[in-house]
Amino acid sequence: MNLSTPIGEIPRIGPQYQKRLKRMGIKTVRDLFFHFPHRYEDFSNIIPTAQADAGGPFCFQGKILEIRNLRTFRRKMIITQATLGDESGKIKVIWFNQPYLINTLKKDGFVCLAGKVTKKNSSKYLSNPAYEKISDPNSVFKNGLKQDLTHTGRLIPVYPETEGVSSKWLRFIIKPLLTKLSDKIPDSLPEKIIKENNFLPVAKALWQIHFPDSLRKAGEAKRRFAFEEIFTISLFVLRERMELIKEKAMAVPINVEFIKKFTEGLPFNLTDDQRKSAWQVLKDMEKNRPMNRLLEGDVGSGKTMVAIIAALNAVKAGYQMAFMAPTEILAKQHFKTFSQFLEKIKIDIGLITGKESYFKKKKIPRKELLEKTKNGETDILIGTHALIQEGIKFGKLALVILDEQHRFGVEQRAKLCQQRTFIPHLLSMTATPIPRTLALTIYGDLDISLIQELPKGRKKIITKVIPPQKRKEAYDFIRGEIKEGRQVFVICPRIEPANNLQLTTNNLQLMGWAEVKAVKKEFEKLSKEIFPDLKVGQLHGKMKTEEKEKIMKKFKEDKIDILVSTSVVEVGIDVPNASVMMIEGAEKFGLAQLHQFRGRVGRSVFQSYCLLFTEMSSKTINARLRALVSCENGFELAEKDLAIRGPGDFSGQRQWGIPDLAMASLKDISVVEKTRENAKEILAEDPELKKYPLLKERLKEFGQRIHLE
Ligand code: ADP
Ligand code: MG
Repeated sequence: MNLSTPIGEIPRIGPQYQKRLKRMGIKTVRDLFFHFPHRYEDFSNIIPTAQADAGGPFCFQGKILEIRNLRTFRRKMIITQATLGDESGKIKVIWFNQPYLINTLKKDGFVCLAGKVTKKNSSKYLSNPAYEKISDPNSVFKNGLKQDLTHTGRLIPVYPETEGVSSKWLRFIIKPLLTKLSDKIPDSLPEKIIKENNFLPVAKALWQIHFPDSLRKAGEAKRRFAFEEIFTISLFVLRERMELIKEKAMAVPINVEFIKKFTEGLPFNLTDDQRKSAWQVLKDMEKNRPMNRLLEGDVGSGKTMVAIIAALNAVKAGYQMAFMAPTEILAKQHFKTFSQFLEKIKIDIGLITGKESYFKKKKIPRKELLEKTKNGETDILIGTHALIQEGIKFGKLALVILDEQHRFGVEQRAKLCQQRTFIPHLLSMTATPIPRTLALTIYGDLDISLIQELPKGRKKIITKVIPPQKRKEAYDFIRGEIKEGRQVFVICPRIEPANNLQLTTNNLQLMGWAEVKAVKKEFEKLSKEIFPDLKVGQLHGKMKTEEKEKIMKKFKEDKIDILVSTSVVEVGIDVPNASVMMIEGAEKFGLAQLHQFRGRVGRSVFQSYCLLFTEMSSKTINARLRALVSCENGFELAEKDLAIRGPGDFSGQRQWGIPDLAMASLKDISVVEKTRENAKEILAEDPELKKYPLLKERLKEFGQRIHLE
């Protein structure tokens, strides 16, 4: 057995668990080892029962003197009551709703129990403790003698909330594997980097991150793994950059007169930032070296117009351009926008998605569109990922624009070209403002254009956190807006209600006892109970594409008043008539994502609102939501998000494929700079990474992981 052994070959993992793990992206022993806890429970304080006092957590070792199940008067609650005895005395123990415990914890058995002690009147009891059976009872009472404990009596790793895979189960699986393989884990970091940065070697670090001797040790391990992630990303980006510099692109001359005439004919004046960004893009494309530029602009800042100008200039110079959007809905929307703005100019636009193809507003067979694209008839081709699938060739492609896509490699650019002699210029656009450290890490030395000002006349979106007792008022307000002719979005964190969640303390804490709102249930409630007289629709990722599009279309045409949806509406959808964005379980989303949702409203002259609903009140959550209420600038929010985000925060921002551990250290610019320095040194010394095969292998895996979605 080694790190690449599939989980199916591990004797303790049955088919059910294999499925669950695979759903979490865990396929090999290595994946298991690199599935890190997000926090630790400190159960290391082992004391005699006589010293038990209210509070804790404490850990007690002893013998079960008695154990039985009781049913409470009030309906179904079952209480398991036990007494634990040690040399110093005894303590009462209570578990709620875990009647099966009496099958595991038997009278006279030796156990270690860990949890909080509650004092009521004069009696003390341990409530809902974690438990672990002790195999060698002789060691129990001996002071200072350490049992090899996994779930109690030490710092206990707590893994992120997942469906059907508990922390306890993960500990049970990971610990023996780590013990068994500890001397067979090769280190992918070059030795001199480990030395220079004073890192723990990989095997030790893995041990300390899962089963730390102390929080300080766990911190050291985290520091190493965070470095490793950023280091890998940096290497990847820098190598790609090296490849790109070798390539040639078509030099596209700027037709100043033509562009000027076009912008003068627009129904609005371009903002200064739009002008500046467009100019930077055109200047890049004038060179015969491929452009690699990111256009960052808040939602509604008018990035599409910059894209249109760049496209127009390329087409005017006799070239083709391709525009790629992340979803079908968006691709179609862009197709419409491009067609509208370029209506008077003789430019032929095509649309290609997974199942449809259009040419100049007419549906045509895919084969015909491909032919027209190959022979250069299609000036602009807009599409989804279908664009980069095999079989699409361009005659003279000079420019590729990506909307809301964060990675696009040299390889994919080359794929779009018929001959490999030239590769297209690339402009990526994003509404997700990226903090400086992150931009530096994932884009390396990429050129960035910013659109910071919004077009004139936009009203500020009023953002409010709505406490549970004000829910009815909020519904009344929504009704009022709809009466005025407006429309409303309702966003929920999940599609279906969570089913049979195990009521472990871990889960309950993570859930904060709060119910996570689900689209289907919320749709039922709103359409049947709250707004039976209004038209309510639902939208989520499990629906068929046609169905989704039908709903989106109806919403756009104002045939639906309230749209209950998951985060599928997050990017780019334009429904100017919508004036309320209501977000359920707001704490479940990252700041950047919430900001994106908010950007779905306020896209016209109507005063718009963003209402945040949350059942929780932890400090961090409040800080996050408070930041959203007080701040409307996406760039500021991005920096705040990064500052607030702790390593234990798993919401949102998955799009870069950066693990949360690495995200946390992106707070520190000096760490990022140091990492990049190290990456540059290694590449300068060995550009092909011949001396570091393991590193090379990791880079390859990484490339597959991070490519487009
Ligand atoms: P995003 O940057 O989010 O992609 P869009 O390009 O979709 O934003 O633009 C949002 C809306 O603003 C569109 O309806 C667009 O026509 C309009 N718009 C773009 N530029 C300007 C401008 N300079 N003045 C007024 N409206 C503009
Ligand atoms: Mg857009």
